[in-house]
Amino acid sequence: MKIAVLSRNKKLYSTRRLVEAAEQRGHEVQVIDVLRCYMNITSLKPTIHYRGEVLEGFDAVIPRIGASVTFYGTAVLRQFEMMNVFPLNESVAITRSRDKLRSAQLLARKGVGMPVTGFAHNPDDINDLIKEVGGSPLVIKLLEGTQGIGVVLAETKKAAESVIQAFMGLKANIMVQEFIKEAGGSDLRCFVVGGKVVATMKRQGPEGEFRSNLHRGGIASLVRLTPAERATAVRAASIMGLEVCGVDLLRSNHGPVVMEVNSSPGLEGIEKASEKDVAGIIIQYMEKRVAEVAHRTSRSRTRGKG
Ligand code: ADP
Repeated sequence: MKIAVLSRNKKLYSTRRLVEAAEQRGHEVQVIDVLRCYMNITSLKPTIHYRGEVLEGFDAVIPRIGASVTFYGTAVLRQFEMMNVFPLNESVAITRSRDKLRSAQLLARKGVGMPVTGFAHNPDDINDLIKEVGGSPLVIKLLEGTQGIGVVLAETKKAAESVIQAFMGLKANIMVQEFIKEAGGSDLRCFVVGGKVVATMKRQGPEGEFRSNLHRGGIASLVRLTPAERATAVRAASIMGLEVCGVDLLRSNHGPVVMEVNSSPGLEGIEKASEKDVAGIIIQYMEKRVAEVAHRTSRSRTRGKG
């Protein structure tokens, strides 16, 4: 196969591993910086240009689109989709999962366990909102935040009020969440590929830190999921429509709760903690999916002729 990896930096661990795994399995791979792509959106022959060349002949595309380039990155991915290149994750699913409020609403509608979550626009409604999510302590999150930045724990109602007021004053979009204290500063990353959890790790934040992000000094270790945790992760991935994703769970008193579904989960932490060849699993899965899609297209073409 000829595979495009949409990534801004060839040197990133995840990008390198995907390229390596694909090449090992005999595929041709090109790493493409989405911000250097430009497009011709024509009804019959959509094209993508890259550094003066036309991108052609790709069978599959692996999107590794950073949160800061979601808008342009998903537009480029959509163009690949218009050219009938198989996307490992679809652009609509990525857009859906990048919107924290929309994701929370979708998961809640399908009955997936989540921390009690609220959001509001008007500062006059803060007090009532705090009451709604069960009072302090509570977690306040910037909707645009990643890697734990913009996630604040407010221990008291007064602290919560002033943080919410400050964020609202800055016109930032926020959500307010029940604090899952019993998680003890740890969470579970479940790496889902094609409806199966293929690798897991537990992340534990440093002493005194409730955020477990590895970027914030968290440490990863091996963990065994319960059947309920496994089922929750698979369900969350399917609701978001993501074939490959990282589902982050907290162990709460009321069972596993989903915090986030990440459409470009990093490979470094999970491969090291689980000692699994996750990149290889992804490429193998993609081979299977590309073959299935090709088979279906050729069958419908034959039927069309008959
Ligand atoms: P980001 O997308 O920036 O990583 P998250 O929502 O995943 O933000 O939060 C970062 C970390 O903070 C999580 O990995 C988790 O350890 C902790 N955390 C987030 N929300 C809660 C919560 N409601 N209760 C307890 N801990 C939380």
